[in-house]
Amino acid sequence: METFGHVIDGEEGPSLDGATFDSVDPWTQEPWARVALGGAPEADLAVTAARRAFDEGPWPRMGFAERGALIHRLADLVGVHAEELAMADSRDMGKPIADARGKDVPRTAQNFRFFADHARLAMAEALPMDTGHHAYTRYEPAGVVAAVAPWNFPLMLESWKVAPALAWGNTVVLKPAEDTPASATILARLALEAGIPPGVLNVLHGYGPDSAGSALTEDPRVDRITFTGESGTGRTITGAAARNLTPVSLELGGKGANLVFADADLDNAVDWSIKAIFTNAGQVCLAGSRLYVQRPVLDEFLARFVAAAEALVIGDPRDPATQIGPLASRTHYEKVRGYVENSAGKILTGGLGEGWVVKPTVVVDAPADSAIMCEEVFGPVVTVTPFDTEAEAVGAANDSPYGLNAMVFTEDLSRAHRVSAQLRAGTIWTNCFFVRDLRAPFGGFADSGWGREGGNFSREFFTEPKAVVMAIRQ
Ligand code: NAD
Repeated sequence: METFGHVIDGEEGPSLDGATFDSVDPWTQEPWARVALGGAPEADLAVTAARRAFDEGPWPRMGFAERGALIHRLADLVGVHAEELAMADSRDMGKPIADARGKDVPRTAQNFRFFADHARLAMAEALPMDTGHHAYTRYEPAGVVAAVAPWNFPLMLESWKVAPALAWGNTVVLKPAEDTPASATILARLALEAGIPPGVLNVLHGYGPDSAGSALTEDPRVDRITFTGESGTGRTITGAAARNLTPVSLELGGKGANLVFADADLDNAVDWSIKAIFTNAGQVCLAGSRLYVQRPVLDEFLARFVAAAEALVIGDPRDPATQIGPLASRTHYEKVRGYVENSAGKILTGGLGEGWVVKPTVVVDAPADSAIMCEEVFGPVVTVTPFDTEAEAVGAANDSPYGLNAMVFTEDLSRAHRVSAQLRAGTIWTNCFFVRDLRAPFGGFADSGWGREGGNFSREFFTEPKAVVMAIRQ
């Protein structure tokens, strides 16, 4: 078995009491890695290291070019170690290796490069005042960042937090999800190899409640908490942050609506709708899990959609041809299985597969207030509901406590703009899905989150903007 330790102050090592937990490969259902199990004492050590590296170390005091060069070197090393990183996420959570290699790892390197360049090139406001003064803004690093990550895109979502935090001069304690610990430790090893000083990127392993996660997010020495995970966990973390008045960024759950109008290019709509719900076996916050199809094309769309769902290749995540692997853990499989077995609607195709696999599942005739329509299933399960009018489609899409994203398929340009304006969600994709410009705001309305990250939005969160006002002698 491989072993993965905490990385604290530049050293990889065990917990103080030697406690460990196993990471289980959800395809073989066997442990493949042994991991240090941290708690409050290790969280204390990790925050102490990050605090010292921030208060006394060179990292926050470096110029953007020097820091950016080290972050680019880390991105280079992510490329060199791409296979090791891809395999770690695939073993930890059953992600198809083709996705880990082709999407997650390249996007991780891109996140580091983008935020290094963005911080170096960002402009700050200069405000000539008509009172004989001159004001300008300095974006100073916020301090110690606690980054708490989920298991569905382990490495990629960790880099989405770590990259801007580092680029703006902060130090970080990263707590990966307990189901996906491996790639975070590898990333921290690579950061040290790249020359990023000890204590700047620390990795703390452990569980969430009453464990490493809660100890980290309750620590008053933490200056920012960036969290991605379930909405309920977001509420708990916000409570801890409120007691310390620590700013929090929350990227939470979703129940994405996908609206297919009768005038849509159906080939395109089917193709993206399949990707929107079945990528990563539906374990995607942005999943298009509520599909609404305008009645004149419902039968045609469904026939093509079901055929495409049935054509997806299910199997061993390490086979490059595999498109659907097992769900990430036994616990998660049991949760999704419950939704499938108790589905209020009719299952057109799909259902349970071998081991922890749920096949691409298409459900019709589910009542609007049923659990499968309202709750985040986080698996390869989609409901399909007909609609007649544009207003009805918008109303149905907005009838959710979540508001992370929505998709609109139409060839009518005015409709696309009109509907995008009315949908209450953080990202609207028209005739596509998952395409990201890293400068754009990313986050959700309502129960899907708090705040935005990406480009300048990440700068706002990971810095303390300071106003400097100078008198100009006349
Ligand atoms: P989760 O909330 O169970 O866990 C996320 C992380 O929080 C883990 O590292 C966990 O150990 C930690 N944690 C749990 N309880 C904690 C506590 N009390 N204090 C501190 N830390 C704690 O989420 P998950 O099951 O890992 O991820 C799936 C969820 O994440 C889904 O709801 C999904 O929609 C959401 N998600 C959102 C986005 C987004 O960008 N909006 C992206 C990916 C996933």
